[in-house]
Amino acid sequence: MMAQYLALKDQAPDCLLFYRMGDFFELFFDDARQAAQILDIALTSRGEHSGAPIPMCGVPVHSAESYLARLIRAGCRVAIAEQVETPEEAKKRGGSKALVARDIVRFVTAGTLTEEALLNPRESNVLVAICPLRESLGLAACDISTGTMELEECTAQTLGAALARLSPREVVCPQDWDMAPPEAVTREGRTFDSAAGETRLRDIHGVATLDGFGAFSRAMLAAAGGLIAYLDHVGRGRLPFLLPPVARGGHAHMAMDEATRASLEVLVSASGTRAGSLTDAVDRCVTGAGARLLAQDLSAPLLDVGMIGARLALVQWLAEDSLLRDDLRAALRAVPDLGRALGRVVAGRGSPRDLGQLRDGLAQAQALHDVLAARDDRPDLARALLPRLTGHQALVDLFTRALVATPPTERGQGGFIAEGYDADLDALRAASGNSRRAIAALEAKYRDETGVAALKIRHNGVLGYFIEVPARHADRLMQPDSGFTHRQTMAGAVRFNALALHEEASRIAEAGGHALAAEEAHFEDLIAQASAAREGIAASAAALARLDVAASHAQRAIEGGWCLPHVVEEPVLAIAGGRHPVVEAALAKAGERFVANDCTLAATDRLWLVGGPNMGGKSTFLRQNALIVLLAQAGAYVPAQSARVGLVDRLFSRVGASDNLARGRSTFMVEMVETAAILQQAGERSFVILDEVGRGTSTYDGLALAWAVAEAVHEVNRCRCLFATHYHEMQRLAETCPALSLHHVRAREWKGDLVLLHELAQGPADKSYGLAVARLAGVPDAVVKRARAVLDKLEKGRAATGGLAAGLGDLPLFAAAIEAAEEKVDALRDKLNALDIDALSPRAALDLLYDLKREANS
Ligand code: ADP
Repeated sequence: MMAQYLALKDQAPDCLLFYRMGDFFELFFDDARQAAQILDIALTSRGEHSGAPIPMCGVPVHSAESYLARLIRAGCRVAIAEQVETPEEAKKRGGSKALVARDIVRFVTAGTLTEEALLNPRESNVLVAICPLRESLGLAACDISTGTMELEECTAQTLGAALARLSPREVVCPQDWDMAPPEAVTREGRTFDSAAGETRLRDIHGVATLDGFGAFSRAMLAAAGGLIAYLDHVGRGRLPFLLPPVARGGHAHMAMDEATRASLEVLVSASGTRAGSLTDAVDRCVTGAGARLLAQDLSAPLLDVGMIGARLALVQWLAEDSLLRDDLRAALRAVPDLGRALGRVVAGRGSPRDLGQLRDGLAQAQALHDVLAARDDRPDLARALLPRLTGHQALVDLFTRALVATPPTERGQGGFIAEGYDADLDALRAASGNSRRAIAALEAKYRDETGVAALKIRHNGVLGYFIEVPARHADRLMQPDSGFTHRQTMAGAVRFNALALHEEASRIAEAGGHALAAEEAHFEDLIAQASAAREGIAASAAALARLDVAASHAQRAIEGGWCLPHVVEEPVLAIAGGRHPVVEAALAKAGERFVANDCTLAATDRLWLVGGPNMGGKSTFLRQNALIVLLAQAGAYVPAQSARVGLVDRLFSRVGASDNLARGRSTFMVEMVETAAILQQAGERSFVILDEVGRGTSTYDGLALAWAVAEAVHEVNRCRCLFATHYHEMQRLAETCPALSLHHVRAREWKGDLVLLHELAQGPADKSYGLAVARLAGVPDAVVKRARAVLDKLEKGRAATGGLAAGLGDLPLFAAAIEAAEEKVDALRDKLNALDIDALSPRAALDLLYDLKREANS
């Protein structure tokens, strides 16, 4: 057995091997140790291997899914080795000692799940394959739970942004690619072949050319080839559901890089949860498919005023008609996850319950169709969705006749085909029902005959039907001419068989077997019918999701008093009474009110420098405006009184390094790399928010960098930009930059306490309130007092020297000290550079080290 196990394990070295033994999946060796720890189950042992006991643990087959879910979540991959013959077959093949043949029937990986229990209904489950081809990278992404597939091309620089948008659960790339992300699964480079990819796609979709689907580059097709080869491998040759590929051009969507998405917390919050994210604050979808589409929309805002307008018109229609909206949402609530049910059905993992979901979903789509069709004021998008919601009546009728109201998830036991669908099946069921009644009659008859009132006819899996009497009455049935044959003696009872009982039991078994076979045949037929209509069903699912998203936006708008944004081509941004959806919701929970603020950027006033105290609301203001732009271009209402949004082609959000330290990833270097990306990429149609850039280094160069960055944004990039800074000195920029204006978040000192008003005002910030913020934060009074005294001294000193008026304006207070320190470092460096190490004697080297140490410490 171990030899068989090890041979299977060889085929799945990077997976935990689930080895089927009877009612359990067993794991051995390191697999067992790892799984036992993750699943918190007992680690035992079995036999020996090379003289040591073999660690083992196991999970019951019937509850394997929940264990699988936990292993996948913990980042494992699992190979399932099933018995592929019965013990009888094994005996026939190899004698009584023969081992049952086993084979890996499937690999379970994070990106290739279809099971309801393993998927999050509100999140897409994306698998991505990347293939480098000369200068560019082909990207193939699919969600096999619903069959969607898209292909795109990017460069090494934009790969991060593309992956951040797709947020894949699993990434596959060629083995020999040196830039492969560390968590990626790597595969033989040859499987990433563009010709093979094209052929496979053509075969899958039964077309002679892919032209009808779009224009695909060689890199895209090579990635598709790798993706499909991987799906083949994982499904052991059985391909999942794949819809025709969609080519995604680089220019259809607003560009947002990874850092911007993370900083705006689009899909997940800074702490890595959905709670606290933009998506979570916006989502009022009533279906999982709607929630998934909403997340995709927010990940890829549009760039086409017409398409944005079409989405918005639908939202507006539903926002302004509460009856229609409520009806629509109530109807949508009853829609099962059509797309995922279809995914399982087409992938050959469908259950009777999935067929029931198709029936209910398609029926509900038709009902929604009828509601919308009855309205003649419907907007264009609703009109375009209508035909996709209908046309499945024949299938719905068939499934309604064929299936019971709530079909089971298991098909093995039968019982899902409705009565009246198949007369033969009904007859078989009637026969077994008659036999059951006959058995009940037999029981009464045997009681009469034997005079044993406690006689019972019972059933179990081992004996089938049998007669049971208490032991003290057994003698009567033991008589040779009694007509009963002894089968088993238990502690207090004895079991018998009888000819008539045996005959009825056989009839039940036979009818049951035939009935099961009949149901199975119907099941296959229904699956085939559903599969044949796959593209139409997928289109219905997509249309339902689109309606749900629109209704969600409308609902959210009504709840929060949000407004319809006006999206235009010119580079403006005019937001009145803007709010931050996440911060506002958090404040509301604490019973506090959010202070709305305006923002008006235009070609002549495109860079706002926002000053004011820490905790004054600068970051919040910056982000709320970026989020409003993002929402508007995704086709949603926005948290503001009014909003005129000039199309943004690239959105950037950057936070100074020290804010990010808590996330444990950022250093000043990262901050500068990110800033460099903005300066290289932002153009006149871009929108940039920069929050405390330069904070990650010393005051001196931090200010200098912030200054230079703001200047470049103003002069070179000429994008719309909100720039928050605590450097007072930067206010001088207003003198030389005509399209830059000064703003601040207001604060007041009242009886020695600081009151933060969170209100944006025109003009420069008057002072930094650093000490007042420190006090607010609970720094002891004595320390604040001492700081006040030091500050006074420093300010007097500065007044006396008159500061450095030229260029940067006043240098920061500690500039002189920093300069002195840097001089010392320079001197040390010069000294080291001048050394000829090879010419030093050991003694001289030692002396020199003492010298240097003394100097460094002086
Ligand atoms: P800064 O960037 O100036 O340090 P933040 O934007 O981080 O300040 O805001 C600090 C806190 O102030 C927020 O967590 C929030 O609780 C509160 N706040 C910010 N803006 C507002 C607002 N417009 N209305 C009410 N409270 C606000």
